[in-house]
Amino acid sequence: MTPPFLKPLALVADDEDGGRLLLAEAAIVAGFEPLVFDNGLDALEAALTHDVAIVLLDVEMPGMGGFDVCRRIRASKRMSLPIVIVTGHDDKTAINLAFEAGATDFVAKPVNWSLLSHRLAYIVRNADREAKVLTLLEAIPDALWVLSPSGGLRWSQNKLAPDATGLTAVMPESRLAEILETVAQTALDARPRMLTVRDGASGEAPRSAELRFTRCESGDVLVVRQDTSERTAAAQRIEHLAFFDTLTGLPNRQQCGELASRCLEEAATGSQSVAFMYLDLNGFKRINDTFGHSVGDTVLQRVAKILCATLESFVRPALELFLARLGGDEFVIIARHAEARSIALAIAKVVAEELEKPILYGTLEFITALSIGIAVYPEDGRDVETLLKHADTAMYQAKMSGGPKVVVYAPVMSARIRDSLELETRLRRALRDNALALRYQPKFRLTDGVLVGVEALVRWFDPELGEVSPNRFVPVAEESGLIVDIGAWVIRNVAEQLALWNAAGIAVPVAINVSGKELLFADPARVIHAETARTGIPASLIEVEITESVFVTDAIAGRSNVERIRALGCRVALDDFGTGYSSLSYLTKFPPDRLKIDRSFIQNVDQSYSDAAIVRAIMSLAKTLGLLVTAEGLERDGQLRWLKACGCDEGQGYLLARPIAAAELERRFLRPQATQEEIPLIESGPFRVPRR
Ligand code: C2E
Ligand code: MG
Ligand code: MG
Repeated sequence: MTPPFLKPLALVADDEDGGRLLLAEAAIVAGFEPLVFDNGLDALEAALTHDVAIVLLDVEMPGMGGFDVCRRIRASKRMSLPIVIVTGHDDKTAINLAFEAGATDFVAKPVNWSLLSHRLAYIVRNADREAKVLTLLEAIPDALWVLSPSGGLRWSQNKLAPDATGLTAVMPESRLAEILETVAQTALDARPRMLTVRDGASGEAPRSAELRFTRCESGDVLVVRQDTSERTAAAQRIEHLAFFDTLTGLPNRQQCGELASRCLEEAATGSQSVAFMYLDLNGFKRINDTFGHSVGDTVLQRVAKILCATLESFVRPALELFLARLGGDEFVIIARHAEARSIALAIAKVVAEELEKPILYGTLEFITALSIGIAVYPEDGRDVETLLKHADTAMYQAKMSGGPKVVVYAPVMSARIRDSLELETRLRRALRDNALALRYQPKFRLTDGVLVGVEALVRWFDPELGEVSPNRFVPVAEESGLIVDIGAWVIRNVAEQLALWNAAGIAVPVAINVSGKELLFADPARVIHAETARTGIPASLIEVEITESVFVTDAIAGRSNVERIRALGCRVALDDFGTGYSSLSYLTKFPPDRLKIDRSFIQNVDQSYSDAAIVRAIMSLAKTLGLLVTAEGLERDGQLRWLKACGCDEGQGYLLARPIAAAELERRFLRPQATQEEIPLIESGPFRVPRR
C-alpha cells in the first residue's frame, strides 16, 4: 500500500550511491519527498504505482536504463509527468535520445547541484501548466500528434488509440505513405497542409476525417485529426433530402428527372425503349380531407410499399426499372428495355390490380384505385419533360373516361392543347374579317319591369367550329393578347350601335365587358374616348363591367385605368360579384356604381339557405354603400319572386330576356319615341318572358 506522503513525490533512480544521494537531496530542497531506487526496473514499478510529481533518471543503470524507463512511463499514458534524465557530459546523442524517449528535460553531468533544486521546481511548475493544456486538449474531440520530420512520434494526444505509438492505428494503411510524405514536406517548407481521409479505423461505420499539418517552432510537425464523419453524414442527409421524398424514401421529382434523362441517354445508345408510367390515386384527396394528413401519409407509404413489391417481381436482366414520387398522390414508374412498352403494360396491369385491394388502416379500409397513363420513348417524345407530360395526359384521359384504368398515350390526346393554338389562329382571322358579332342582353328594374340597360356580349361563329362560347375563346384571347383588339372592336361596334340608336331617338345604356388583361396591358379609356368622340355619343351611355380581381390584385395600372374610364363619365359595374375574392375592403375604397351578383349565387337563391344568406348580405352591403344591385342569371320565377321580395334592384337572365341581336332588341324592347330633348329610358312594360 502506498504510504501517505504529505509532500509531492520525486522518484530518483541512480545506481551510483553518490549521485543518488545528491539527487535525493536536491529533491528535498525543492520541496519533494524522494522515493529512491538503485535500478531501473524498481523505479519503473514505483513510477507506475505511485502518484509521483517528478522522475529523475540516470542513463546507465543495471537491468533497465533511464531511456527505457522513460519510454515505458510514457507508454503508460503518463504524458505530462515531468521526467528528467541525467546524461553524460556534453553527450549530444544522449540528449537527443532522452527527448526521443519522451523526457521533459535533461541534466548534464557534472551536475550543478546548487541549481538543481531550482530547476526541479521550475520543471514541475511547467509540467503543471502542460497538464492543464493537456486537460484542455483532452476536452476537444480532435486527436493530435507531434511528429518528427521523418514521422517519428514525439508526442501524442490521440483519443482514438491512446496507446498507439503512431498514426497507423487510426489511419488507413493505404494513405500512410502519403501522410508521412506530407509531414516531411510540411517540416521542410512550413506551409500548412490538409488531407481528407475516409474509412479510418477498420470494422466501423465509414468515417471521414481531416488531417491538418502545421510545423511547430521546434521543426516538428503537429498533426491534428478532426473527425468529420458527422459533418459528412449530415451533408449526405441533406443530399438525400434534396433527392429523395421524405415520406416514402423514393426518389423525388428532381431525382426522377435526373434518373430519367440518364435512362434516355442509355436507351438512345442501345436503341432501347423507355416507358414512362404516370400513376395517380383516385380519390386520394378525399382520404386526406376526411381523415387527415397523417392517415393520408400512411396510405401513401403503403401504396409506395405495394408499388415497390410489385416492381420487384418484374426485375430481370437488361431491364432498368425505377419508381419515384412526384409529389402528392402522383408516382412515376420508368422502365428501360427493348420491349419497354409491353413490359409497362404488364406492370401497369398488375399494379392496378394490386391497388384495387383495400388498404387497411385500423378499422378503416381504403380503396386507392389508380389511373395510369403510359408514354414511351422514342415514339411519344424524346425528352423527359415531353414524355412525362404525355404520360400525364394519358393518365388524365384514364381518369376522365372512368373506363380503363390504364391508357397509353396517343397524339389525339394533345389535341386539346393544339386546339387552343388553332382557336387563336381562327379567332385572329375572325377579328380581321370582322366576323365577330354582338348580342345585347337586357337588364330590368325589378320593381316595375323597366328596361334599364343592356349588356353587350361578343359572339363568334366559326364556319367549321360553329358557335364558340366566349367562356372558351376569351381566355385564349387573354392568353395571346388578342383580347386587346377584341376589346377595341367591341367598343367601336357598341359606339356605332349607340350612335344609330341615338339617331333613332333611343338612348339605352350599354354595358361592355372589359377584361382585366385589357385594364392591365391596354388603354380602354383612350379607346372609349376616341370612339365616343368619333360617333358623337355621350360616354355616360357606356357602362364598363369589370371583375373583382382587378381591384384585389395590387395592379395600380388596372385601377388607374378604371378611374380614367370613370372620369370619361362611364359607369362601372363589378361583374360576377362574389366568385372571386373574399376581401371586400376595396369596395369601400373604390366603390363601383353597380354590383352584379354572380349567377352561381342566384341559381338556388330561393332554395338554398346559405345562398340566400350570401345574397342578402351582398345586398345590404350594397345598400350601405349606395350601389345598385343586379342579379345575374335569372332563369326561374322562384328566383324572381325571391329577389323582388328582398328588394333587389335589377335582374338579368334568360327568364327575362336572352342575349339578342340589336334588331330583335329594337323590335321587342326599344320603341323609339319621336323627338326628345332628353331621352328617357324606354319603358318595356310588364316583363316579357320570351317563349322558348
Ligand atoms: P358575363 O359578363 O357574366 O356575362 C353573362 C353571361 O351569362 C353571358 O354569357 C350570358 O349569355 C349568360 N347568361 C345571361 N343570363 C343567363 C341565364 O339566365 N342563365 C345562364 N345559364 N346564363 C346566362 P356569355 O355571353 O357566354 O359570356 C360569358 C362571359 O364571357 C361573360 O360573362 C364575360 O365575362 C365574357 N364576355 C362576353 N363578351 C365579352 C366581351 O365582349 N369582352 C370581354 N372581355 N368578355 C366578354
Ligand atoms: Mg358581364
Ligand atoms: Mg357576370
